[in-house]
Amino acid sequence: MDFRDFEDKVSCPITVLQNVTFHRTLLDRFLVAFQEQVAKNAVYVTTEELELCIGCMQTPANVKLQKYCDDLTVQGDSCTTCSCRPLWCLTCMGKWFASRQDQNHPETWMSSKATCPLCRSRFCMLDVSQVQPM
Ligand SMILES: [Zn+2]
Ligand SMILES: [Zn+2]
Ligand SMILES: [Zn+2]
Repeated sequence: MDFRDFEDKVSCPITVLQNVTFHRTLLDRFLVAFQEQVAKNAVYVTTEELELCIGCMQTPANVKLQKYCDDLTVQGDSCTTCSCRPLWCLTCMGKWFASRQDQNHPETWMSSKATCPLCRSRFCMLDVSQVQPM
């Protein structure tokens, strides 16, 4: 359901024509940076059968949220390991992550956190693993 909210948010800049390119470009640029970071992260090896991403229903799910960062922040906003199986593709996870950020301060996105769309466990970009079927 949250994901649908996010889709609304992404399509809403269309009402402000001048901003369309800006918003698109920003998201695209972020997705590239997101993918580059994830490519450097640890991979998650699994024997599970991967279902289609529940965001786009087109690509097989290929990311898993696991805490790998050494974030030790207390006060309830530290990263935790998500117990959900792989449900999202990298692009959808990147879009989700972007949609949870402060849209007026894109410079903070790379160091910010988001929560798993399902279990709400908190993660940062270092905690997004690419899934590698065994
Ligand atoms: Zn997807
Ligand atoms: Zn989760
Ligand atoms: Zn983290």
